[in-house]
Amino acid sequence: MNNQIEIQLSAKRKEKPSFSDLKFGKTYTDHMFIMDYSREKGWYDPRIVPYQPITLDPAATIFHYGQTIFEGLKAYKNENEEVFLFRPEENFKRLNRSSVRLCIPEVDEDLALEALVKLVSIDRDWVPDVKGTSLYIRPFTISTEPNLDVTPSQKYRFMIIMSPVGAFYKEGMNPVKIAVESEYVRAVRGGTGNAKTAGNYAAAMLVQEKASAAGYSQVLWLDGKENKYIEEVGSMNVFFKINGEVVTPELSGSILEGITRKSVIELLKHWGVPVSERRISMEEVYEAHQNGQLEEAFGTGTAAVISPIGELFWNGEIISINDNKTGELSLKIYNTLTGIQIGKEDDPFGWRVKVE
Ligand SMILES: *Cc1c(COP(=O)(O)O)cnc(C)c1O
Repeated sequence: MNNQIEIQLSAKRKEKPSFSDLKFGKTYTDHMFIMDYSREKGWYDPRIVPYQPITLDPAATIFHYGQTIFEGLKAYKNENEEVFLFRPEENFKRLNRSSVRLCIPEVDEDLALEALVKLVSIDRDWVPDVKGTSLYIRPFTISTEPNLDVTPSQKYRFMIIMSPVGAFYKEGMNPVKIAVESEYVRAVRGGTGNAKTAGNYAAAMLVQEKASAAGYSQVLWLDGKENKYIEEVGSMNVFFKINGEVVTPELSGSILEGITRKSVIELLKHWGVPVSERRISMEEVYEAHQNGQLEEAFGTGTAAVISPIGELFWNGEIISINDNKTGELSLKIYNTLTGIQIGKEDDPFGWRVKVE
């Protein structure tokens, strides 16, 4: 296989949006990465080309049976115009784990990373430098073979597209209200919950809409079997600080293994803060609240990094956490992680990858 990444630069650069007023996922950079797959050739023609629409046959299996997976990560620019990625190799490892679950061929992780770094480097003027902003990066694979037979596609396309995004917390960090969902589930053990695939998101939308209409910003998902154990919050992993110990649900097969989650656990261990990955039920959280031991709760994910939870609504009861204020530990984790990401803090774990 020819692994040489071909580069075709755009003749005309697009006008950039104002970096102080960015909407999520509305504008895309000048270039994108594409690589195709066929049974016979494997992955071939890795190339960086001008950002443009693609053409697919209406019978392409992606439209019918949803063989697709994606990733999400960010590039950050600091005052010295340095550009960094945060643990990008973890994204390609996870992309391949998701691929295996969806019968999609794995990509060469080194090649994918090389392509990503080149793409960000070419479009580095698109990495916004206003405080809190970043360049959101979306690698994804779709099945492209025209075939209505329910069988894995023989053709795929892997792409990376990028979009400048605004600060998640424009008016400071505000704890959010969360509805605990006791009817619908996001994923079940043995299903696709631990793969980053479109269907999980499609299945969550109705529930998310219902929660939004009732005034909650996200739902807290419980396990699909007993409807008891906590899994995730919206599309973030979730942490609780109870009586000095930080607890996050163990990876049960239905939980997506977040890179932010992993980083938070490693950071807490590094600090000597007790942290455990175990099953945790809503009852346990409720009891901790009743006993005054529920100290903090927060979601973790690339978009927000840390999203403090101020209130949980469960079984007709309101569980308010830390008087609806951001917890001390939540804030410390947020400041440290964002500091590492932007190159303001030391990087003792070697998480940053510099883009020249
Ligand atoms: C992407 C995702 C996360 C967060 O993962 P990060 O790598 O931390 O961004 C958590 N839960 C779900 C369901 C996700 O899709």
